[in-house]
Amino acid sequence: MRTLDSSTSLRIAIQKSGRLTDKTMNLLESIGLRFDDYKRNLLVRCRNFDVELLLIRDDDIPEYVQDGVCDLGFVGGNVTAEDQADVTILKGLDYGVCRLSIAAPKNGSLRKADDFSGKKVATSYPVLTKKYFDERGIDVELITLSGAVEIAPRLEVADAISDLVSSGNTLKANGLMEIDTIYESETELIRTNKPLSQGKQSLIEKLIQRIEGQQKAERSRYIMMNAPEEAVEEIRNIIPSLKSPTIVPLAEEGMVAVHTVVPISTFWQVMEKLKQAGASGIVMLPVESMIE
Ligand code: ATP
Ligand code: ZN
Repeated sequence: MRTLDSSTSLRIAIQKSGRLTDKTMNLLESIGLRFDDYKRNLLVRCRNFDVELLLIRDDDIPEYVQDGVCDLGFVGGNVTAEDQADVTILKGLDYGVCRLSIAAPKNGSLRKADDFSGKKVATSYPVLTKKYFDERGIDVELITLSGAVEIAPRLEVADAISDLVSSGNTLKANGLMEIDTIYESETELIRTNKPLSQGKQSLIEKLIQRIEGQQKAERSRYIMMNAPEEAVEEIRNIIPSLKSPTIVPLAEEGMVAVHTVVPISTFWQVMEKLKQAGASGIVMLPVESMIE
């Protein structure tokens, strides 16, 4: 294996094994980067870009990026914020979405932040949790645990917890009730603040452009429909398309095919209106990438 120091490739830190690993690899592959054997190695070269991945624990990522050991990192905003790392957040990515929340036993008496005064709060996020209570002038005793925080109240190690929540099922399963959100988090692409070569900077720009294209594509659908020619004007007004739609004459006299791209968020709403305007045979397809 090559040593870390000898590399001039853009080095990207990702979580070795956990919730973010597959999603991050899928994102990198969806923007055209190809890797082999990422499950077995610590350092993985990209086959078609001057990029290498360093696979490490997520807790170490902000610091590796801060120190310039890695140029970029994909890591939860919760970890970067907890570490108070000196890095630049380049982009929020729509996965690994969760929140750091305070929670207390459902059958207990803690119902709001003020009730936590003088109580023991178990957490793996002492920095963010302390900040939350300090800002409210509430004095709590923090018990820092590295995992299994949700069972601390049952073990009587703590009165309440501050932990990451996504669906809320883990809290429920442990008889806990979510009381307030401390920090909203998603996976972020972070960049070192150490100076980078021109080559690395332009590679980063290229990657960001591709990620943006991919994000836009994920939120869009390509739609095709048939319609009478005289309905085209109304259809054009209905479709919130990026550009004017493509109109192709069909073999059937007076009929055309209309092709365009719409945001997924408005697709169903638009589809009803299109049918009313006379469109038929509406087909929706996923979009792989969108570069403007
Ligand atoms: P590592 O071994 O790398 O330290 P970990 O156990 O700390 O792994 P994971 O449980 O894999 O980490 O979570 C990684 C990230 O996934 C979290 O830091 C957070 O940003 C995000 N995440 C999303 N939903 C949740 C959730 N419900 N619980 C915990 N983390 C979540
Ligand atoms: Zn971790």
